[in-house]
Amino acid sequence: MGSSYNQSVSILVQGIVQGVGFRPFVYREAKRHGIVGYVINTPDGVRIEAQGAHCTAFMDALQKNLPERARIDSFVIAKREPMDCREFEIRESIEGEGNIAIPLDTALCPACQEEMDDPHNRRYRYPFINCTDCGPRYTILQIPPYDRVRTSMKNFTMCSACEAEYTDPASRRYHAEPISCPQCGPQLKFLDNRGKAIAGDPIELAVSLLKAGKIIALKGLGGFHLMCNATDDAALGELRRRKHRKGKPLAVMFSTLEQLETYAEITDDERSLITGAVKPIVIVKAKAGSNLSPQVAPLIDRLGVFLPYTPLHRLIFERIDFPLIATSANVSDEPILIRTDEIVNRLGTVVDGILSHDRTIVNALDDSVVQIAQGKVVMLRMGRGFAPHTIALPNSLSGSILAVGAHQKSAVALGVKQNMILSGHIGDLGSVEADSYFERSIQTFKRFYDSEPSLYISDLHPTYSSTRYALTQKRGHDTLQHHYAHILACMAEFTLNEKVLGFAYDGTGYGDDGNLWGGEVLIADTHSYERIGCLKPFALLGGDKAIKEPRRIALSLLFESYTLEEVMELKSPTTEAFLPHEIRTLHHMWVKKLNSPMSSSMGRLFDAVASLGGFIQSLDYEGQGGMIMESFVDESMMEPFEFSVLNGEIDLSGMVKHIIVLASATDSKRIIASRLIATVEAIIRFFATMHPELPIVIGGGVFQNHALMSRLYRSFGSSRFYAQRQTPINDGGIALGQLYYEIHNTKEKNER
Ligand code: ZN
Ligand code: ZN
Ligand code: FE
Repeated sequence: MGSSYNQSVSILVQGIVQGVGFRPFVYREAKRHGIVGYVINTPDGVRIEAQGAHCTAFMDALQKNLPERARIDSFVIAKREPMDCREFEIRESIEGEGNIAIPLDTALCPACQEEMDDPHNRRYRYPFINCTDCGPRYTILQIPPYDRVRTSMKNFTMCSACEAEYTDPASRRYHAEPISCPQCGPQLKFLDNRGKAIAGDPIELAVSLLKAGKIIALKGLGGFHLMCNATDDAALGELRRRKHRKGKPLAVMFSTLEQLETYAEITDDERSLITGAVKPIVIVKAKAGSNLSPQVAPLIDRLGVFLPYTPLHRLIFERIDFPLIATSANVSDEPILIRTDEIVNRLGTVVDGILSHDRTIVNALDDSVVQIAQGKVVMLRMGRGFAPHTIALPNSLSGSILAVGAHQKSAVALGVKQNMILSGHIGDLGSVEADSYFERSIQTFKRFYDSEPSLYISDLHPTYSSTRYALTQKRGHDTLQHHYAHILACMAEFTLNEKVLGFAYDGTGYGDDGNLWGGEVLIADTHSYERIGCLKPFALLGGDKAIKEPRRIALSLLFESYTLEEVMELKSPTTEAFLPHEIRTLHHMWVKKLNSPMSSSMGRLFDAVASLGGFIQSLDYEGQGGMIMESFVDESMMEPFEFSVLNGEIDLSGMVKHIIVLASATDSKRIIASRLIATVEAIIRFFATMHPELPIVIGGGVFQNHALMSRLYRSFGSSRFYAQRQTPINDGGIALGQLYYEIHNTKEKNER
């Protein structure tokens, strides 16, 4: 091919290619390779029309040297007519039907950080500095494609200096849509808890409250944080009291990696996540003996840590030397709040002041929460930087399908054209505010992807707000069993279509037989499942009360194995947590099956073991039993307890009896916690050995347990073993599983 030969091609790039500096990158590569033509954002992706002698090298470079946050899902090349042009340019976007991955929010980049620290730079100490590599994206976007006029930055007119950068292809801020400076951009303001503006330097006012042990609300990328001094017992006590949040761990933001590492032991994998382009909350091992208040994460040795990810965070840390609690500003586990007036109205009694600004958050998005087990990411909450998450399908769908998810950790998923799109974490449903926010999220999704779903799919549970919402849509409506959906969520992430051996272990979900499931072994494909195993069901004495008080579940397990008289004589932390007449009353309840729903839930079994082993008798939040036990797991004690399987029912009465004996031993907690994890692994191995030909797929909240996941990755490797990494392994992934099912089972499927 001679150098004078001119090739003309048309390229369509799909994936995460908008708002990640992709077009400027294409521009630079075009210049470098002597290419003429143009690049343009279209509703179908980024289109590049290119002509020149080095088209092949140009296209190679495009796929090789991608900007850090960009991701190419498809790169389709077609020959085209020669063009008559001399330059390469970036053209205005074409609006229209959306079918693209949404650009994701990104933490402050090193180049911008350097600029804001430079007294000679015009953005010195500027709280809204950003560039094509960093800053807000999805959270300020009203509708795609991603251009300034369709973001909340449209209210700010660029000054001439900003405009010059925005239009200069050689600038780092060429088409940086949220570009601004102190002359033309958003303004900070400080308000009291009744919403009255306070005169003075907003940052100085916020810092002085934090130093005085007060609580502030601070506007971040996807919502407000509540912040206070993480080393101050009194401040934390006050935050917990005002928020009615007793023991649930709180995330901590550190000023620098160095500071963070004095409080936590982190691995190289964890370090690169913590310092990477997203800066999610990473759950890591806490160092003992630090000056962090014990109220940050009571009774557990893990800690949610993250680094400042907006320029505003950095400006706060410039003036304080202690780490900050940075927890989502919400009421209990409802969606995160995004407007100053919501903070005043709903959290006015919680905060002492509000640091806000006038760049509107269009789409709420919580911080993402992840952990790493054996080098693999486990997504616990998918939010800022990761959501919405798109998975490409092999075939195009003819209609569109909306999956509405479960009830806690709500998220929705949309199937449209060749994509499955999972929303970010919405929050727990069940309150007026949460449910209306859930409906707004669905409206946003419909608008973003310009689609009106013709089919809805929800959980089997009849009273979930999400199920009821789907029913009111007067469209096609299917329901799907919760634990099957957990397995399908993992299959969707890996686009598995074959038969799998699935283990769905979680709190409780509605079973096909009306019982509370949660320790299920399924053989499943994308069309149906067979329940080949489950924990032998046990009674939850008092229903919801048992979920808050593990001692009630443990007691019912004791009743399964001993007579009432024997139970009364037992030396066990469980029986000691009751008065004798309470045990008799509960026994009566157990015999008569009064208010005692049956459950096969692994999460509830963990809770029962937490009671029997003397870890905890009454919970502040769901999953606490497992989290406390996790810190006692010792790799040198991994011997499974005895169990038997009869007709698929897993009987753990041998374990219960063994724990009664062990509970009085020294070191009992380490032994019990370790052997419980080993037992779960042994149960999985038992079924896996019976079905050696099937891939192992797992899902459900129990797998949020770090010790368990590390153990499973170590013993099963990753050849036959599948666990979600990019989408939430808990109920946050249910919508994806529902969607995957509907895509494979609707008659409207396009078979081409
Ligand atoms: Zn930047
Ligand atoms: Zn400006
Ligand atoms: Fe679940």
